[in-house]
Amino acid sequence: MATTSTARGDLTDELIEADIWSDEMVARAGIPVRDYPLVSVGGGIGSYALVDTLRIAGAQPEQLRVLTNLDFPYQTYRHLTNNSQIPPHERIRSDSASVLDNIWGWPSYAVREAFSARSLSGFIAPLLQVLVEPIFTDYYTPKLEQVFQSVDRETARLEWAGMLDKGQVRMSRRRHGGGYFTILTPPEGTSATRRIAFRSTYVHISVGYPGLQFLPDLQEYRQKHQDYGRVVNAYEPHDYVYADLLASPGTVVVRGSGIVASRVLQRLIDDIEQNGAQTKIVHLFRTYVGGAHGPSIFMRRKGGDGFAYQGFNWPKSAWGGQMKQKMEEIEGEDRLELLRLTGGTNTPKRKLWQQQLKRCRANGAYRAYVGQVSEVVPGPDRTIITRVNAKDGTKIELAADYIIDATGLEGDVRQSRVLADLLDHGGAGLNPYGRLDVERTFELRGAASPPGRMYAVGSMTLGGYHAGVDTFLGLQTAALHVADDLARQGFVARIGMGRSLAQWLRWARRRPPS
Ligand SMILES: Cc1cc2nc3c(=O)[nH]c(=O)nc-3n(C[C@H](O)[C@H](O)[C@H](O)COP(=O)(O)OP(=O)(O)OC[C@H]3O[C@@H](n4cnc5c(N)ncnc54)[C@H](O)[C@@H]3O)c2cc1C
Repeated sequence: MATTSTARGDLTDELIEADIWSDEMVARAGIPVRDYPLVSVGGGIGSYALVDTLRIAGAQPEQLRVLTNLDFPYQTYRHLTNNSQIPPHERIRSDSASVLDNIWGWPSYAVREAFSARSLSGFIAPLLQVLVEPIFTDYYTPKLEQVFQSVDRETARLEWAGMLDKGQVRMSRRRHGGGYFTILTPPEGTSATRRIAFRSTYVHISVGYPGLQFLPDLQEYRQKHQDYGRVVNAYEPHDYVYADLLASPGTVVVRGSGIVASRVLQRLIDDIEQNGAQTKIVHLFRTYVGGAHGPSIFMRRKGGDGFAYQGFNWPKSAWGGQMKQKMEEIEGEDRLELLRLTGGTNTPKRKLWQQQLKRCRANGAYRAYVGQVSEVVPGPDRTIITRVNAKDGTKIELAADYIIDATGLEGDVRQSRVLADLLDHGGAGLNPYGRLDVERTFELRGAASPPGRMYAVGSMTLGGYHAGVDTFLGLQTAALHVADDLARQGFVARIGMGRSLAQWLRWARRRPPS
């Protein structure tokens, strides 16, 4: 690592305007420069998956830099799961197809859970479940806390903390002569300069979702009436809603029909059934799925009671089967159509959720409505009225104490300043889905700076050649593709059979990768 300037540097007009920067331009701005072969921007699960894979492929910690505002890789994920009612003892959606601390997938989460159990039934239950799933029981999926603990162990093994540079990444621009400059704004008071430039041959972008997304009518209500407490997004902290509904009877409108809506419904019904809450749940569907649906017998998805059912957010073949192969072959509108058919809003058909909803339908605690919201307005006695144009043409008014928007996270690439800059100055473009256009190797199309390459992974690449990009397995798959591409360029070794076996043995003995 070399620091070529120590002056208090900041971005200049010259730098902001130029698509490609020279070393002299950065020196003129007085921005100190640090050299690393590869920097990863984000520091979440996607960055972690890449660093894990590259370390296994032989990269040393001093060759890799992670630029991030996070302290540990699952910080954002933990924040979002916690808010959306997945506490650490709950089970996540995905299974051991992706074991986050172990790219080989063995031993699986179920095996580890069995061997760490303190009772015979605790030992047998997870093993039996993976034996008979999904026909006789739900898919086995690990508890959140098991995932966190395993990532903690692996980050220690990788020497993750030593590879971090904390701060906010402002932009990544191509460099005259090849490679990139990535500009980090370190936290106030931690650096002598306002910015630091990381000069690297390779850049990996894994910035996740830019933020929360509200349904337009709810956003309008919040802004117009300055009511940010009673109309909430399921991903923002809103535990006080459940506390208030426990303390006094109330009505809550839930919008959305994906897994986050299922989690919110579970929490509300748990409180009714186990803690005596007298909540009335009004579930508002925009699209109501009445039964199995799909264009042909080979592409049918279960559905009912408003929900589209799917174990994982994409069919399993999206990560390693027919669909993965097809996605890699087709382009443009054809890919969009396949994504539309196989993705969209869906939730697993879990026995617990089915039974809870059945009971609450019967006792009147849960009622479903279908329609298009025309407006959301304040009502009498501090209620909020949702005006709905129902499917049969009637108009309905739903009064509630709270509205929980469980419909999603922000999908607009331009909401991320770094990504917007890549579109405006970095040569990057959008795919037909409106997200970043990447190659099959996850190289960002149009952003090459030979011999340097830029890669992008995660949710902001949906619409490319891989469907399940915003999942653990998707991020691990992307990491393998990037590592293979870097191996072809000689940056790391190829992970062949010998290396894979040797590295698994090191993993099993908790030795650092070599
Ligand atoms: C509630 C919930 C449940 C989920 N359950 C599952 C599941 O069961 N199984 C599964 O496979 N997947 C699941 N997922 C998907 C999972 O979150 C993603 O697979 C993964 O967390 C995304 O990782 P990422 O690295 O792309 O983004 P993140 O983990 O969000 O990391 C990116 C981070 O980069 C940082 N960053 C962004 N911009 C900058 C910048 N300019 N400068 C510095 N830092 C920046 C931010 O802190 C950001 O959080 C779930 C997601 C949610 C929200």
